[in-house]
Amino acid sequence: MLTGKYALVTGANRGIGLAILKTLAQHGANVIGGARREGSLDDVCSELSDSCGIEATPVYFDVSQPDQVKAAFQKITRITKQLDIAVNNAGIMDSSLLAMARSEDIESVFATNVFGTIYVMQYAARMMIRHKSGSIINLSSIMGVNGAEGQVVYSGSKAAIIGITRSAAKELAPYQIRVNAIAPGFIDTDMVSSISEEIRRERVDSIKIQRIGTPEDVANCTLFLASDNAAYVTGQVVGVDGGMLV
Ligand code: NDP
Repeated sequence: MLTGKYALVTGANRGIGLAILKTLAQHGANVIGGARREGSLDDVCSELSDSCGIEATPVYFDVSQPDQVKAAFQKITRITKQLDIAVNNAGIMDSSLLAMARSEDIESVFATNVFGTIYVMQYAARMMIRHKSGSIINLSSIMGVNGAEGQVVYSGSKAAIIGITRSAAKELAPYQIRVNAIAPGFIDTDMVSSISEEIRRERVDSIKIQRIGTPEDVANCTLFLASDNAAYVTGQVVGVDGGMLV
């Protein structure tokens, strides 16, 4: 489905990002795994190269640091001149009540989730504009669509992703670059592991499909949006939430 394409996935060393990296590689893409912890993707990339017969290369950078993003893209342009797919997955959550949120947490959530997404999109778009093709996929959240108590900061950052996605979709469509967002619901990763059993049960009860989502559920939607099967899909926010908002 993606044979010969080059795909960057940020935050690819665990959770949803890792599932996306593996799924794109299993469908023939050469993958560039972004992670901030040096060495954290070395083994995964060599396993994917062997098992999928593709090029898998780790690039270590923190998306919230513009100098590191710039240096990462200098490395990426040495790997490929044509970036076909960029998945902005790296993200952090904050669960403070509005009155309790600390300024340093507000700043770090926006620096990673919002500024990091914009920095990566800028460099990815520059590469894609040259070839007049590409697909950018940004991870928003059901909370960016609907909000939630105790999530003012996080949901604000994920709502910003929707505005960024829709604006970039308009701006980049003339270059045949599609920009879409995915809004996952409740997905079983480290990000939600600290949630109490009671809240977990309440959330699962609100899911019409009656189960927590898996990272692969999100990866499969990413695969579709990355592929030519979604050639006429841009500016959309696709819920992957088991019907939580129905
Ligand atoms: P995890 O916490 O499991 O993984 C987050 C990933 O992002 C890790 O690889 C982490 O790296 C990386 N990361 C965090 N900050 C940075 C940074 N500044 N620079 C580079 N990498 C960074 O989260 P999930 O897999 O659950 O979430 C992935 C995305 O999906 C996020 O954007 C999240 O907001 C979104 N999402 C998740 C939902 C869920 O229910 N799980 C629901 C809705 C949206 P490290 O290992 O170094 O910390």
